[in-house]
Amino acid sequence: MCKSCSLGRGKRKISPFSPVSISPFLYTSYLSKTRRKSLVCKEVFSQMICRFVNGFSAAAGHRISEKNVAAGWDFRYHVKLDTNPGMEGLEVSTGNLIDPEGRPVTHLRMSITQECNLRCAYCHHEGEEAPGEQMSTETACEIVKTCSQYGIRKLKITGGEPLLRADIYEIIRSAKDVGFEEVSLTTNGTLLPGRAVMLKEAGLDRLNIGCDSLSSSVLPKTADAVEPALKAAKEAGFENTKLNMVVLKGVNDGEIEHMIEFAKAQDATLQIIELIPTGNGYFDKYYFDLAPIEKELKNRAQSVTVRRLQGRRQYHLPGVDVEVVRPFHQHFCEKCTKMRVTSDGHWRPCLMRSDVLVPFAGADSLLEAVSLRCSYSS
Ligand code: SF4
Repeated sequence: MCKSCSLGRGKRKISPFSPVSISPFLYTSYLSKTRRKSLVCKEVFSQMICRFVNGFSAAAGHRISEKNVAAGWDFRYHVKLDTNPGMEGLEVSTGNLIDPEGRPVTHLRMSITQECNLRCAYCHHEGEEAPGEQMSTETACEIVKTCSQYGIRKLKITGGEPLLRADIYEIIRSAKDVGFEEVSLTTNGTLLPGRAVMLKEAGLDRLNIGCDSLSSSVLPKTADAVEPALKAAKEAGFENTKLNMVVLKGVNDGEIEHMIEFAKAQDATLQIIELIPTGNGYFDKYYFDLAPIEKELKNRAQSVTVRRLQGRRQYHLPGVDVEVVRPFHQHFCEKCTKMRVTSDGHWRPCLMRSDVLVPFAGADSLLEAVSLRCSYSS
């Protein structure tokens, strides 16, 4: 539940027969007639609208008929399964998942641990507030296999710091064995020297290495610190490495140009990332709007690519690519194709919603999680 409104605080119980529960449209008319204050915040209200519209379309537009069943609608979950010809060498390939808003689910982002050997103040821990026991190797491999059966072909492994897990090679291998086309990993780079070759051998395709500043006394992931990681990655044969820079107002917002030069020298892509709320006042103090930077990059770029994933834009500058990640812009939710998994083995349909978690229990749990996907910032 949302923490910023009365629904989330749980102090006021809302009757199942109240206008809030029935429809957002009744609710607005109820508010105007009674001149009462809204019980819910803007976010929850937009979710109500979204769910109401989805429910309506499920009831009216996708009635159970032979035609709709043949078209691939799974009515237990209001999820569409596009028929898929299947992949050679795989036992099953059930289809591609399409959520209630019509968004295909093609990417898996799996956190495999909440442990980390650094402490970045802005760390959002993949939105995990109170993680349970870390999932086992078997669970991680089963999750990957289940996703592959539903046409998901891109996997990003995250943490915490995923290289702290000794079974990381096994997890990567299992993903490649079941047909994942791209397996990438985010890391703070500290443990990469000495592991890069084994990661490559296990089948890892690409790396995202955190690097927020050239040198800083408050940010641990600096260029100096990640240089050995970049060297190890190159020697192991990794290409298209991305450097992830989280931009913080008054801390490193003046370093973007230097970081572009650093990425160019390292033959890497620079990803500049807007802060997302961590709920402790940090966001209000350090949020830096990347809109003006993006405008400037657009003027300087030789060309621009808009990625399918979350509508991210990649600016191709002479000798270096810069990608901008702005979670509340660029149709981030509208174009989200990711299903997330928490380190304790739950599906998490949205990064911003810690109240919607589905424990992993085979394919049905994946379908249920997909059916719960709903744009957060629509
Ligand atoms: S390195 Fe990554 S996981 Fe570790 S504290 Fe920093 S942001 Fe969080």
